[in-house]
Amino acid sequence: MAKPAPALDVVVVGAGIVGLAAAQKLRASGRAVTVIERGDIAGGASFGNAGAFAFSDILPLATSGKLRKVPGWLLDPLGPLSIPPAYFVTILPWLVRFWRAGWADRVRRSVAAQSAMMRLAASEMAAMVAAAGLGTMVRSDGSLELYETEAEFAASAPGWQARAEHGIGFEHVRGDRLAELQPGLAPRFVAGTFVPQWQTVSDPHRFATALSDHLRGAGTRFLAGEVVAVAPEEAGACVRLADGQALHAAAAVIAAGAWSKRLAAPLGDRIPLETERGYNTTLPPDAFDLHRQLIFGGHGFVITPLSTGIRVGGAVELGGLDLPPNYARAEAMLTLAKRFLPGLATAGGRQWMGFRPSLPDSLPAIGPSRASPHIVHAFGHGHLGLTQSAATGRLVTDFLCRQAPAIDVAPFSPQRFG
Ligand SMILES: Cc1cc2nc3c(=O)[nH]c(=O)nc-3n(C[C@H](O)[C@H](O)[C@H](O)COP(=O)(O)OP(=O)(O)OC[C@H]3O[C@@H](n4cnc5c(N)ncnc54)[C@H](O)[C@@H]3O)c2cc1C
Repeated sequence: MAKPAPALDVVVVGAGIVGLAAAQKLRASGRAVTVIERGDIAGGASFGNAGAFAFSDILPLATSGKLRKVPGWLLDPLGPLSIPPAYFVTILPWLVRFWRAGWADRVRRSVAAQSAMMRLAASEMAAMVAAAGLGTMVRSDGSLELYETEAEFAASAPGWQARAEHGIGFEHVRGDRLAELQPGLAPRFVAGTFVPQWQTVSDPHRFATALSDHLRGAGTRFLAGEVVAVAPEEAGACVRLADGQALHAAAAVIAAGAWSKRLAAPLGDRIPLETERGYNTTLPPDAFDLHRQLIFGGHGFVITPLSTGIRVGGAVELGGLDLPPNYARAEAMLTLAKRFLPGLATAGGRQWMGFRPSLPDSLPAIGPSRASPHIVHAFGHGHLGLTQSAATGRLVTDFLCRQAPAIDVAPFSPQRFG
């Protein structure tokens, strides 16, 4: 007797920006999509990020320049990088992999892979924004990275050289041009780099919820529920919910952000997913006349003009999913921001902490699970999940629709960690 067809076509686990973008691309290719979310739509990392389409961000975090700064950063309890003592032993294997990702040959391969991913990210994002009618939510005024010393500016040169080799445009600026790009900067900044291609969204949460509204209008189903397991079946995948329901689908996508590891492990994929916890404060919109996103690379934070306010945030805390937030980190960045923009009004801010889903080599895990070609992983985008969401959706669709992938997917294989 023939087996009955699964009741559902594609189930996407997680309604963060990556799950939503996967739903959009699958729907556009004619698949019927059900998205399952246990909390609010885009209530995870996609809620409060810095809102950048950081298409020029092709360097892994573990470059030799950054690795040299790590000891100093760790000694500063409120610096850009911290590891709570209670989590140090747990994170150690991840740190070893992170350090290895900084070896020169690995950095070269990583930059090439990330560069291809970012070209795809830019074209797929433009297509998704157009299809979902989100054009008015995207600002195209570039970003400005700032340097406090000549030594810091000189140290950034190899990174810009690598970007130039991959066709990324930028302009080093000083003096009047610097002041024109952002009036009101403290005089301590000796130079900057303007990246015109960089874009930001008016607010990342509103952007994601507008995308989900569009998806609903186009027939995508949203179900509330916690997925406890995704298992292979002969004709697809079985998605089990905490309330005991079992959904049978032709395919499933695991896009559960920093929480994806628990769903991937039973499929035979032991992926070293950790979280880089990030913090920010969103000030009222009139807190400063910000012309574009400002990046303070030496301090690990950015300031972004959003429709919902001026967002000051970043930092990396390797503290896992369970430790309570330490909002002193958000306050430390605000104090620095005031020093860098003396006219910034720092009252009335809202604080937030989010879990970046991070792999040690700074590349996401996108591809079929070891257990089944019908179950595809789409997580681990670290600092770049908003930027790479639409490209991830494209690749997920390529896998599930049996199309040749748009780019070489080997560097993003979920099985690359052995
Ligand atoms: C401070 C900060 C600034 C950042 N700035 C930027 C930026 O400027 N540009 C950029 O590109 N990226 C940025 N990022 C990174 C970006 O926010 C993330 O990479 C991205 O949001 C990850 O999206 P996601 O959909 O994978 O995860 P999430 O947004 O976390 O979504 C995962 C969803 O899955 C749901 N879920 C989890 N488990 C289950 C389950 N078992 N059942 C059902 N649902 C489940 C969760 O509830 C959640 O809604 C930043 C991050 C931080 C913290």
